[in-house]
Amino acid sequence: MIPTSQFLQMKGKRIVITGASSGIGKAMALRFADAQAEVMLLDIDQAGLVALKENLIPHAALYPIDLRSREEIISFWADLSEQELPHVLINNAGIYPAKDLLDIDEAFLREVFAINLESMLWMCQGFIGRRKKRGGVIINVSSVEAVLPFKEDLLIYSVSKAGVLALTRALARDYGRVGYRVNCIVPGAVKTPGTTRLARLAVQKLRLDLFKAGYDFQTRLALNRWGHPDEVARVALFLASDLASYVQGAMIPVDGGFLSS
Ligand code: NAD
Repeated sequence: MIPTSQFLQMKGKRIVITGASSGIGKAMALRFADAQAEVMLLDIDQAGLVALKENLIPHAALYPIDLRSREEIISFWADLSEQELPHVLINNAGIYPAKDLLDIDEAFLREVFAINLESMLWMCQGFIGRRKKRGGVIINVSSVEAVLPFKEDLLIYSVSKAGVLALTRALARDYGRVGYRVNCIVPGAVKTPGTTRLARLAVQKLRLDLFKAGYDFQTRLALNRWGHPDEVARVALFLASDLASYVQGAMIPVDGGFLSS
């Protein structure tokens, strides 16, 4: 029997994490670095990446990149040597701007889709295209909003995150036989700089509807509290490890019970 501690040992594994400067991505970077993985951190926020390396993960490899650009994603994968190829890809970067259907224009739609969905598709294409028959692990980050649209004006976000679920399951089916495990984390109510910004917006603009949405949201949390980003990172570590060797095409909520209430 393989010792339990060995399952969570990531020494010698290279892990790509997108959106690693902040929130859930940053927590994943810390968690995987603690498990002795070599972390390869991607974000548009270069200063955030540098601060993370200088203060917390000195051996991290940094890749400032705008994930809206397919060209930059293609270059990222093309520039990696065979030795640098990652074993695990975590597509975490995402944005959640709100707009009513009637105010949505093409630029808004393109922006949200480009980051939340298309970048994940191109990153998967690069990962599988370079690793070929060697297989690997892909973890995509969706949202409870994909399954249960709750906060108003997040229509485009919900659609993009539903696309992430479909992408995950389709890749799990198409590439399982070649040795790729592809799964999805479905977070909800995790306290990050992103969700804190949303809450601050509600206070600044005295948006009563946002206060009410926040209150209603809170009452659905079976655990009666918001989650810590590391609580999502721990599930990513499980999915990346051989503890999850028979988990394929799964959508795992990490939401304090929001979807079950
Ligand atoms: P966050 O805003 O704290 O961090 C997101 C990171 O993505 C930032 O570092 C940002 O710079 C990066 N990013 C944004 N646009 C980018 C681009 N064009 N190129 C490269 N990097 C870019 O967000 P978070 O709350 O940690 O969310 C992380 C993921 O989890 C997102 O996909 C989000 O939709 C999902 N999610 C979060 C929650 C939650 O409660 N926090 C709930 C459901 C889903």
